[in-house]
Amino acid sequence: MTSYQRICLVHYHELGLKGRNRNTFERHLMRNVEALLEHEPVEKVTRISGRVLVLLSAQADLQAGQRAVNILRKVPGVARVSCGYRCEREMDQINDAAHKALSEVDGFYTWKVVARRNHTDFPIDSMELNRLVGAYLCDRFPEKKVQMKGADVEVHVEVVQGYAYVYALTIPGIGGLPIGTAGKVVCLLSSGIDSPVATWRMARRGATCIGVHFSGRPQTQSTSEYLVDDIAHVFEEFGGIARIFTVPFGDHQRKIAALVPPALRIIIYRRFMMRVAERIARDEGAKALVTGESLGQVASQTLDNINCTNAVVKMPVLRPLIGSDKLEIIADAKKIGTYDISSSPAPDCCTLFMPRSPETHAKLADVEAAEAELPVDEWVSELMSKVELREYRCPSSYDSNHHGRAEAKAAVDDNVTKLN
Ligand code: ATP
Ligand code: MG
Repeated sequence: MTSYQRICLVHYHELGLKGRNRNTFERHLMRNVEALLEHEPVEKVTRISGRVLVLLSAQADLQAGQRAVNILRKVPGVARVSCGYRCEREMDQINDAAHKALSEVDGFYTWKVVARRNHTDFPIDSMELNRLVGAYLCDRFPEKKVQMKGADVEVHVEVVQGYAYVYALTIPGIGGLPIGTAGKVVCLLSSGIDSPVATWRMARRGATCIGVHFSGRPQTQSTSEYLVDDIAHVFEEFGGIARIFTVPFGDHQRKIAALVPPALRIIIYRRFMMRVAERIARDEGAKALVTGESLGQVASQTLDNINCTNAVVKMPVLRPLIGSDKLEIIADAKKIGTYDISSSPAPDCCTLFMPRSPETHAKLADVEAAEAELPVDEWVSELMSKVELREYRCPSSYDSNHHGRAEAKAAVDDNVTKLN
């Protein structure tokens, strides 16, 4: 009786370096993988000799395997994904599984077998396994060539924990650390190109990301909100964003524009954004804010201006793109799949009431003097009372000890308006 079952084997390298934390990392990775594959025919997700094994159900076909790989390759913490079969520890099954696994690889010319036996209770040692499987495959792929160094494909055969695992196709993942291992951050998320990339970089380092979006509503339409929602759906594929708070900022921008010198408008909008984002972060139990600023990219992103916006918050503000060139950021946005969405025109709040010549080297004293005319605390409270919440699929935020979650929910409870 043959009993092959399709598998995806998830390799992670960085986790191996984390010593005592390894367990936590593996637990998060397994939890994320399991949740993200919820719609695929998965029998179980388990740990196997330093990897995560996804055992697909008996009826899973090639397409199901490919879908699973396409999900897994985007999941933070995944260095590589291999797909193949689990079978009994019998030579005819192992050979057959190797044949099937190699047949599913496109466009290779050279190949070799890499066999490993972890149990001495299996009578055939690694060398012999290499030879036997190699000979079997040579007969089935006469037009291909065995090559020991730098082969296009390695056919792996591992006899471990009572089964043989055979795989050939290996695809690179995005690396990083499993989401949920690095705490929570609040990301200021516009519908532009940069801030989704900044958010993704934090998610890839294991942070659970919560977005805050300031829309120009009711002074503008909700276009930017729809775009941010589309971006969040891209992030949902790898569990990269837990929820997004939308703040209708248009009326307050209008008031700010009427009361402060035009050149300082943008900085003062930003300072309000930072204050609101920090309040949300505290409610959510997040420990840092994240922006998509890149040094000198636009007028508001000079060191002087960054100092002026930083001055209103106590929490660390992380800027994962600060040293990146626009072309690198665009390349990342294309890889993540947010570039096209971010390229759609949207009047977000920052395009509202734009001054003709914004200050590029603001002095904190001038900004504070201009703001002294404004009822800052009152406006921040008003903005907090207008916040709208939307939840997304993010396995790392399903944890039960959700510090700050209850209060945050209560604060927005009356104001939850789902986008249509
Ligand atoms: P992006 O491409 O992210 O929109 P940008 O190049 O337009 O950035 P700025 O307008 O200076 O640059 O914005 C700098 C950062 O401030 C953004 O990356 C984002 O983190 C935050 N930000 C700007 N506008 C908004 C907004 N409407 N809602 C939330 N955050 C915002
Ligand atoms: Mg922008």
